[in-house]
Parts: sequence; C-alpha cells; structure tokens
Amino acid sequence: MTSAPPPKVGAPRTTRLSAASPMHRIVQLYGWAVIAGFSLLPMGLLVYVAHWQPDTLLVRHGLHEIAIGAAVVVGGFVSYVTWRCYRYSGEVFLRWLTLGLAGFTLLYFVHGVLTEAADTHIQVFLNFGIVARLVLMVCLMVGALRYRAPADPPERREARGLWLAGFGALAVLGVAVALFSQSALAEQAWPRIVAELFTIACGCIALTVQLLRGDASPLMSFYVIALALLAQSSVAFLMSAPWNHIWWLAHLIGVAGFLALSYGVAIAFRTTGSFAMVYSQEHLMNELRRANAELEARASTDSLTGARTRGEFMRRAAEEIERARRHDHSLSLLAMDVDRFKDINDAHGHQAGDRVLQQFVKVVSDRLRPADVIGRVGGEEFLVLLPETSLVEARTAAERMREAVASSSVRVNGASIGITVSIGVAEFGPDAETLDSWLSSADKRLYLAKRWGRDQVVSREGPAFN
Ligand code: GH3
Ligand code: MG
Ligand code: MG
Repeated sequence: MTSAPPPKVGAPRTTRLSAASPMHRIVQLYGWAVIAGFSLLPMGLLVYVAHWQPDTLLVRHGLHEIAIGAAVVVGGFVSYVTWRCYRYSGEVFLRWLTLGLAGFTLLYFVHGVLTEAADTHIQVFLNFGIVARLVLMVCLMVGALRYRAPADPPERREARGLWLAGFGALAVLGVAVALFSQSALAEQAWPRIVAELFTIACGCIALTVQLLRGDASPLMSFYVIALALLAQSSVAFLMSAPWNHIWWLAHLIGVAGFLALSYGVAIAFRTTGSFAMVYSQEHLMNELRRANAELEARASTDSLTGARTRGEFMRRAAEEIERARRHDHSLSLLAMDVDRFKDINDAHGHQAGDRVLQQFVKVVSDRLRPADVIGRVGGEEFLVLLPETSLVEARTAAERMREAVASSSVRVNGASIGITVSIGVAEFGPDAETLDSWLSSADKRLYLAKRWGRDQVVSREGPAFN
C-alpha cells in the first residue's frame, strides 16, 4: 500500500504576494485603517459618555490618588528606560521623549499630591494636571520635528548640563504654575482652554509631520497611536468638568496613549535602542534574504582566490555525479598542486605566495568552460570538475592549463616569479564508482606526477602511459 508523500515543509510558496501586487496594497491600506480606527476609538466613547452621563459626578479622591500614584511609578520607570535607550543610541527623538516623560511624571506627581486640595484650591490642582500633559505633548512634538536628526555624540549623551537645564526649566514652570494658580486670572476658564487647545495643536502638528514623513518604522505606529490618544485625552478634558465621567474617561484615554508610547520604548530598549532603527517586518525580511545570500556566497567562495570552498566543491561534485549518472554523461576531475610552492613563500614571502595563488587560479579559470568548477581544497591544492568531459578530453584540457601556468609569471617587488603545476586526471565511471574513490584516484595520479618530476599531467597509473 502506498501513501501520498507528506507536503514539503519550507517548499517555495508560490502564493506569496509581491509588494507591487494590488492585493498587497489593499492589505497595507487595511493595516493603516486599523491603526486609524484604533486610534480614534476614544471619540466613540467620548460621544457616548457625553450623551448619557453628562453631569454625574464621581468625587473619589482616593481613587484619583491611586491612579496618579500608579501613573507616576510607571512614568518614572518608562522615563528611565527611555533615558537608557537614549544613552545607548543617542537618538535625538529619545532625548525629547525622556524629557517629556520625566517632566510629565514630576508635574503629575504634584497634581496627585494636590488631590486633597481640590476641594479648596481646585485651580492649582487642575493646572498641574494640564501643564503635565502640555509638557509631554510639547516634547513629543519637538521630538517628532527632530526625528532622524543625526544621533548625539557619546559625550553629549553623558553630559549632565543638558538635563540640569531641562529639569531647571521644569522647576521654574512648576513654580510659575503654582503662582499663576493663586492669581485672579486662574479663576477664569479660558487659560485652561487655551492650554488644552495648545496641547491638542502640538499633538496634531506632531501627527501631521509623522504621517507626511511616511516612516515605516513599526515603533512609529505606536508613536502615532499615542499622539492621537493623548490629543483626544485633551479633547475629553476640554469637554469635561472636574470629577464628572468625561473627566475620568479623559484620564483613561490618556493612560491608553501613555501605554502605547511606553510599549514603543520597551521594544526599543529590547532591540536597537532607537525608534527609527526598529524596522518593519517587510524590511527585516528583505534584509534577511540579502544577508543569507551574502553568507551563502561567502561560505561557498574562497576569499583569497575566488575558487569554490572545499564544502561547496564537494556539494557540486556530488550533484554532477548525479547528473552524469542520470544522463549517462562523462565527467572528469583534475587534482592540481602547485609545484615547490613552499620555496616561493620562502624566497619571496607569504604575501607574494598569495599573489601567485591568485594568479594561478586566474590562469586556470580563464581556460575553463562556464559549467566547469574549480575548488580550493588545501593551501596550494585545487580540484577542477569537468562535466561532460571524457578522460582523453580532460587530459588535453589539463595539458593546456599546465602549459598556460608554466608560461605565466607574477611580478612581485621587481622579481618575476614563475610557477609550474602537477595535475592528476581521473574520469568518473571508468576510474571510480564513488566520489571518494574518484578523488583518491585523481590524487594518486597527482602524486605520480610529482614523483616523476612535476610540471606534468598524469591520467593513468602505469608508468609507460601518462
Ligand atoms: P610540492 O611540489 O611537493 O607540492 O612542494 P610544495 O612546496 O608545493 O608543497 P608543500 O606541501 O611542502 O608546501 C605547501 C606550502 O604552501 C606550505 C604552506 O606554507 C604554503 N601555503 C599553504 N597555504 C597558503 C596560502 O594561503 N598562502 C601562501 N602564501 N602559502 C600557503
Ligand atoms: Mg601540497
Ligand atoms: Mg605543492
């Protein structure tokens, strides 16, 4: 009883779509639509809550304190991770992201501490929350504008002055917010409205810049989602009154934006330490294919002479044996060894020896047909596969190569170095039935060529007939 062969795992998949196909484009557009839909989801929630729960208040100081406490702990952690990424990659975008996240964390901490004061000093409580988000968004915008700026040099990454200036500015801002909150102006609604609108505007600018740039880096998708969510969080705050459901929802949308941003940071930390250098899967697939092809070429080519490596030559030899058997073709092998090569090294130096080997392979290769294969199997030992070639033809070809080598020379440091080569020839089939015995048959004849005086071709074991 016969059963069907199992499907080949890893066989070339003919259904893979090329990047130029219309379906590929449609799926790509769908991917973007998913990101857009996901980013704009809070709008639906906002409309829903605004419609059904416009005025109900949920005054829970403890809940707010816990939420802000968690935000501060996570914010501090993510700021630190972002700073580590910045120090590693020097990416300017990450410098601004670090400052934005740290500034947000510090100002939000004050906002949280002031929760109890909300009953008596609602302005100062609200203003620290607004300014925390404003600082984050301004830094995100500057980061977007400076995205792909040349990386900071290592000294700048370690410099403290930059951070002292940043944190100094944040401290001044904190004092200014506290003082402003005491003023009569803070009683009015419009300064807070202006601040929220400014935050939204910064988010829109960063989003536009990033979308126009069309960067395919996957982390930038998270960045775009984060910007959209944070901007909508400000829209929700704008529509809210303290402690109502829209106000709580605004916090949640902000959390979602923050988490999207921090996910990008976590991925950057675990990979390249840079947002711009985390590549899309498509990009990585192409890079992988290119690198694999290069590795394959390197593994199969001798770097000094350009001949095939031993492994590659043996693979080709086995293939050619298969072909010769299948089609009943003749197939011959030349085993070559440069004569007295050690003397050349001793007289002219190793480098001159290398040049001679390169020249030798060039002279031989110039006399090969496209289907022939030359492999380097030892220091100055080479094998040549001659498909569809009988022993007599191979001997003639080998003789031509021997003559060409003998009449060539390499000039090194004013000296002209001449070489000769000994060659053993064997045909698959008449001389041997396996790869190993075929190789040893050619080797034996090469050994005889050496014994009988070098610079000659031997294609038989008997002394009378070469
Ligand atoms: P024979 O005629 O019997 O083959 O003598 P030979 O000197 O060529 O043979 P032997 O095996 O004694 O010496 C081979 C030399 O090739 C010794 C080794 O230092 C040198 N060699 C091996 N690989 C390289 C290489 O990559 N570059 C250079 N310059 N020399 C190499
Ligand atoms: Mg040798
Ligand atoms: Mg030799």
